[in-house]
Amino acid sequence: MGTWVRLKTRYLAWIVLLLTHSQCHASPTATTLTGPTMGTRWTVKITDRLPPKITVASLRQEIVDRLAEINEQMSTYISSSEVMQFNAAASGEWFEVSQPTAELVTRALEVGELTGGAFDITVGPLVRLWNFGTDRGVAVATEIELPNDNAITGALAQVGQQHLSVRADPPALKKAICGLEVDLSAIAKGFATDQIGELLKEHGLNDFVVEIGGEVVTRGKPASDRLWQIAIESPPEANRRLHTIVPLENSALATSGDYRNFFVHEGKHYAHIIDPHTGQPVGHNLAAVSVLHKSCLYADAFSTGLLVMGAEKGYDWATQNDIAALFLVRSGSGIQERVTPAWKQATQAPLKKRLSNP
Ligand code: ADP
Ligand code: MG
Repeated sequence: MGTWVRLKTRYLAWIVLLLTHSQCHASPTATTLTGPTMGTRWTVKITDRLPPKITVASLRQEIVDRLAEINEQMSTYISSSEVMQFNAAASGEWFEVSQPTAELVTRALEVGELTGGAFDITVGPLVRLWNFGTDRGVAVATEIELPNDNAITGALAQVGQQHLSVRADPPALKKAICGLEVDLSAIAKGFATDQIGELLKEHGLNDFVVEIGGEVVTRGKPASDRLWQIAIESPPEANRRLHTIVPLENSALATSGDYRNFFVHEGKHYAHIIDPHTGQPVGHNLAAVSVLHKSCLYADAFSTGLLVMGAEKGYDWATQNDIAALFLVRSGSGIQERVTPAWKQATQAPLKKRLSNP
């Protein structure tokens, strides 16, 4: 038994939108909306004019409704959600879910396969075993024992996406073993960010940024002569608040880190992301990974998978798979940055474009 100090904070400052910078040149019609969701906040900033049939209040309500719908389908924090009902259901039978849930599970299984199981939405029993379950959110200091090897082996027996099947028509999920659970926490925020971007596009909007707890989707520009500037936060070891600022156009950015939801036990750091191969929370020198992608759900899932792989393996895998990723690695002298060639290209391309199109 040992003393656990568990530090938990919300993902409020993963990424800071440099709104003040763009506001000096932004159109006077700029609209900013924000609200709570998924244990964090959503923010939408639109710099083109709203179509005549839409008011700020009606758009806000549409966003709130869409996020509520996604939570009713996919949250592990709502006991009546589709995913939680599936988690409680028996094995061996198809369990009907909504089309978006089946679609997101399909994408998640795809990422699981691609990452060799580093990303796995069936980690739920391990997340709970390590006490990163739905009770999270407050800083506590308690006396708890670390799970023993038997408990980890028992939880690992209930984990593995090969035991989960998904069907598109009619949309449904099936588990091959009882105890198997679905936890979409590492991909649902990215999915929701994409969805709000789609909602805005359906209204004919072309210049906006959507952010949910640090996952970002950008479209168009804040003003004709500039790009959206998204700041990536530094891990606490660094002596500065922001690590870098990324210019984005029609692109999504997601970050996974080990320093916003973790506990310390006898000097060792245990993060809320679990390696599904070992059953252990990640505890290596990789503090954070940011991924740029066309779609935020993939950026979200890949960043979690890369965090599990660690600095070396993750960098090699992202490079081989042409993933635009930025790794923030702890070293004796502070935080070292490593970016893949695809990241370099993706973050330089918009700047080049801007220079060639003044
Ligand atoms: P956050 O939700 O903090 O932004 P992530 O996107 O990386 O960070 O998601 C972490 C959450 O995903 C954990 O709280 C847990 O519920 C779940 N999770 C933990 N490990 C994995 C994993 N290896 N693969 C997929 N999901 C995971
Ligand atoms: Mg993620």
